[in-house]
Amino acid sequence: MGPEVTKLEENLASFSGSKYVFSCANGTDALQLALMALGVGPGDAVFAPSFTFVATVEAVRLVGAQPVFVDVDQKTFNMCPDSLAAAVGKIVQDGELHPKAIIPVDLFGQPADYDEILQVADRYSLKVVADAAQSFGASYRGKNVGQLGHIATTSFFPAKPLGCYGDGGAIFTDDEELASEVRSLRNHGQGIDRYDNVKVGLNSRLDTIQAAILLEKLKIFPSEIINRDKVAHFYSQQIPEELGRQVVMSGASSVWAQYTVFCEERDSIRDGLSKLGIPTAVYYPKPNHLQTPYLSAIRSPTGLRNTEYLQERVFSLPMHPYLTEETQTQIMTGLKNTLSSR
Ligand SMILES: *Cc1c(COP(=O)(O)O)cnc(C)c1O
Repeated sequence: MGPEVTKLEENLASFSGSKYVFSCANGTDALQLALMALGVGPGDAVFAPSFTFVATVEAVRLVGAQPVFVDVDQKTFNMCPDSLAAAVGKIVQDGELHPKAIIPVDLFGQPADYDEILQVADRYSLKVVADAAQSFGASYRGKNVGQLGHIATTSFFPAKPLGCYGDGGAIFTDDEELASEVRSLRNHGQGIDRYDNVKVGLNSRLDTIQAAILLEKLKIFPSEIINRDKVAHFYSQQIPEELGRQVVMSGASSVWAQYTVFCEERDSIRDGLSKLGIPTAVYYPKPNHLQTPYLSAIRSPTGLRNTEYLQERVFSLPMHPYLTEETQTQIMTGLKNTLSSR
């Protein structure tokens, strides 16, 4: 907790426009701390997509609550507000769990549809925890990631758009009460006095060395976001029509943690690209509702059709801010040739 940590928190606050920012050990802890600060626990239902990294729902179970899986929109890949409303309605009707929070995930760098989600949240007095692990630096209807939801979390794992050289994370909120909860919880539930522990918390400090690295990387982050967007723009213009791709909704921007497309026969296309030396990856090969610990979790009554459709077909193309135009062209030519030689 050296001076660089405080400095980083100040800079993250001015970058995002959030009132309070707390760094922590990683993005999974950030989610757990946000849920703990909101008092989420046993008997509570937390609504989350299945199409996300496992940490989103793992944090729900770590605080003793039950995840309820919600389907995604087939165009944006983010939480579908109708599927969410149906899921909350079911939990209310069943009456066994107390509906408590929603975790929209900003998949692959694009913010979820927060206005629509907040409408559902307000109707049922639910709190919104924005899992912005992949979207720090993006925006939605004039707000920056960090200002979306009641509380937001991010990750600085090296593979994220703003990565450090190990693990790191942060929590953002404008709510003073939540802020003081998080401040205490991330440091063993510390009270006003250093050795007076008033609640059960975590050891979730960000290392000073990682804060120092992030301070430098934050300076060039705006230009990296522009570069990522240029790559995405080029891909979007060049991608053959037979491939579907994640669409950014109007009024939103993405930081393109991944550039993700979808099609039938994904594996043969990936093989073809691999033979040309073009790496691809599948995020994520197995949806969370089919992972062992979450098999019995409740699902939205609308089903998870789009989640399953996408998870069987998506793959991500190379994406980083330093891809030269030559390499981008090579990737698109390789993709066109692979598709036409099928
Ligand atoms: C990476 C990620 C996390 C977890 O972050 P860590 O820093 O790896 O713990 C949580 N949610 C999503 C959507 C992620 O992509």
